[in-house]
Amino acid sequence: MVEIKTPEQIAKMRAAGLVVAAALKACRDAVAPGVSTGDLDEIAAKVIADHGATSNFKADHGGLWFPGVICASVNDEVVHGIPGGRVLQEGDLISIDCGAIVDGWHGDAAITVPVGAVAPELLQLSATTEGSMWSGIAQVKKNNRLQDISRGVESYIRRQPLPSKGKYGIVEGYGGHGIGSAMHMEPHVLNYVERGRGRGPKLVPGMCLAIEPMVSLGTPHTRVLEDQWTVVTTDGTWASHWEHSVALTEQGPLVLTAEDGGKAKLAEHGVTAAPDPLA
Ligand code: MG
Ligand code: MG
Repeated sequence: MVEIKTPEQIAKMRAAGLVVAAALKACRDAVAPGVSTGDLDEIAAKVIADHGATSNFKADHGGLWFPGVICASVNDEVVHGIPGGRVLQEGDLISIDCGAIVDGWHGDAAITVPVGAVAPELLQLSATTEGSMWSGIAQVKKNNRLQDISRGVESYIRRQPLPSKGKYGIVEGYGGHGIGSAMHMEPHVLNYVERGRGRGPKLVPGMCLAIEPMVSLGTPHTRVLEDQWTVVTTDGTWASHWEHSVALTEQGPLVLTAEDGGKAKLAEHGVTAAPDPLA
């Protein structure tokens, strides 16, 4: 069952989304050589608290406690990195994932940020991952199917020039999800088309989905470190992760965790973003 939200509930999710956007912006502005991932966690925690919101990350996840309000995944870490004492170095690539709850409604988004000057190939990796997210978001429209989002993400990545090591790996085993009265809900949103899986449910107004491609400079395969959280690539290649929470409304898609509701980026795909209920 996919949870269908009323316009009033989507407005609350927009409020949560804006808190996440503000927290990620503060983190992005703070990223620099010498800053620790724990510093970034404190910055995000302050933004969440200042907005009167709470964290959906710093919580029990099926019996496993996550100690941060952000996930900080550096270099070959793909997702779920635990923030702490690790100090960022010039040339690193960090993915920051953050979430917040307002009035019981959840937001979830992620960005990749270069630390100082990084190799051009890493900027291209991040741009490819972000671009694929927007290509998927552009498919969030009435009468499309869930698989159209997956195809939007995958086809964008496959159209990009290949990195020197050969190809981009679209990370398997992790993906997007429904979001609303909980952070992780039905349906699972794959970042690629899986043969034989079918086109999935029809997209209808009131559905809210987190779309979050994870791409590496090599393998699609990952393993989890002994800390039981950090997901790394099996071949040590570096990865990027971008995410937005998106609502499908009667007026089209509203990117809940984008400051402008997705207006500018969706326009590049010929899609008009829905009006912001809180504007
Ligand atoms: Mg996330
Ligand atoms: Mg997510």
